Amino acid sequence: MDALADREQYELYFFLEQHLLAQEDPIYKENTSIAFDLASIYQEVSIRYFEQTGIKLDSTKDENQKQLYEWIQQKERYHLLTEQLKLMLDCIANPSILDESSKPDYFLITNLLPLVNIMNDEGVRTLGKTKPQVVPLSYHSDREINKLVEEILVEIDPTEKWLSIYQRAQEEGSFIDYLSLPPEMRMNYQMIEEPDGSLNATFLTSTGQFSFVTYQNTLEDVATILHEFTHYIYYEKNKEVASLTLREFSPIFYEKYGLLSLSRKGYPLEELLSIDRKRRDNTGVLARSNACLYNYLSMLLQDGTIREEKDISFNFRAQNKILSMMTNKMKRDIKTNSPEFFDPIKFSHINCDFAVMYLIRHPESFYTEYPYVVGTHFATKAINNLSKNQAILVRMKEYTEKANEIDPYLIFEGIGGNPRNLGLTPIDQDLKTCLQKKKSLF
Ligand SMILES: [Zn+2]
Repeated sequence: MDALADREQYELYFFLEQHLLAQEDPIYKENTSIAFDLASIYQEVSIRYFEQTGIKLDSTKDENQKQLYEWIQQKERYHLLTEQLKLMLDCIANPSILDESSKPDYFLITNLLPLVNIMNDEGVRTLGKTKPQVVPLSYHSDREINKLVEEILVEIDPTEKWLSIYQRAQEEGSFIDYLSLPPEMRMNYQMIEEPDGSLNATFLTSTGQFSFVTYQNTLEDVATILHEFTHYIYYEKNKEVASLTLREFSPIFYEKYGLLSLSRKGYPLEELLSIDRKRRDNTGVLARSNACLYNYLSMLLQDGTIREEKDISFNFRAQNKILSMMTNKMKRDIKTNSPEFFDPIKFSHINCDFAVMYLIRHPESFYTEYPYVVGTHFATKAINNLSKNQAILVRMKEYTEKANEIDPYLIFEGIGGNPRNLGLTPIDQDLKTCLQKKKSLF
C-alpha cells in the first residue's frame, strides 16, 4: 500500500471535505496546495469500510462513493470538528500563523470562554428581529462632510491635536478619497474592495500609515471617516497594530459618537438611526451566521471535546424553546420548507458539517470577526453610558492613544461595561509567561 494506508480515518474525511469545497469553489482549489487524488481516497475509505462492516463496495461507482462519504462523515464529523476548532484556537494563541505582524492577545486568551459567550449572545440577540425600514439618505457635499468631521474632532480632543493630525494627513495625501485614485492604482486593492467597488480601510506600512475612504456624500461618511481616522491616530501614536480585543473598539465608538454629535446638531434623527442600525446589523449578521461556531467553541472550552450526544441534546432543548414561542402557522411553514429542523439529530449534523466546512475554508474566521463583534458590544455600552458620565469621552481619547499599554479589563470597567458581571478578569500574567514559551493552548 502507498502512503494513504497510514492515514487516520478522520484525515480521509478531511480530504473528502476539502475535495467537495474545491468543487464548489474554484478559488479555494487554486489556493489549496493539496493535490486531490479522489480515486485513491475513496479506495482507502472503502478498505476501512470493509474492515469495520465486512461489506465490500466498489469505490469507483458514484452511488457507492456517496454511501462511503456518508459513512465516514457519520463516524468522524465530531472528531474533525474538534480538531478544526483546536486549530482555530491555535491561531488565536499564535496569530502570527495567519498574519506576521500580529501578536497574541492575552486578554482574549485569559478570557476565552466568557468572550466566546459574548460573541454568541451578540449573534443570537439579532435573531428574529424584523428588518428595519431603509431610510433614504440626504445629499451632503465633501466640503460639508469634512467641516462636520473637523468640528467633531474638536469635541473629541479640545486641545485640537487630533484636528491638526487630520488636516496634516489630508495635506500630505495619507488620508485619501479612494475613488479619486486612478483606476490602475485601485487595481492593487481590488481583492479587498466591497462588491460595490468601495473601500474603507487604514494600513500601517514601514514608512507610516494611510487611510482610504469612499465618500457616498451622505451623513454616513462622517461615521466612516471617524472610524478610519481612529485607526489612523492609533497607528500614528503607536506604530503597531492594536490587540485583537481593542482593534475595532475605539473606531466603532467614535463612529457612533459622530452620529450622536450630528443628532445634537439637529440633523434628521431617522437618518442617523438608520445609519447606526445598518452598521450594527452588519456586525450582527456576521455574529449570527456563525453563532453555531461560537456555540461549539464554548462546548470545546468547557469539555475539552465536542460530544455528539451533547450537541443533539442541546439542539433538542433549543428547538423546544423556539417552538414554544412560535405560532402554528410558523410551525407549518418550517415543516414544509425545512423539515430537518424538527429532527434534532439531523439538525445537529447539519450544524456540525456547516462548522467543519466553514472552518476548513476560513481558519481565520474567529480572528477576523472577534474584534468587530466584541468591539461593537463594548463601544455600544460606552456610548449608552456617555450621557450619565461625560468623563468617558476623556477616557476614550486616552485609551485610543495608548490602548496596548492598558489591560482591556480596566478599559471596559472605565466605560461602565461591567466586565466582572460578564465573567471577565484582568490578563493572567502567569498564563502570558507560560504561553510566550509554549505558543499553544493545547
Ligand atoms: Zn476598523
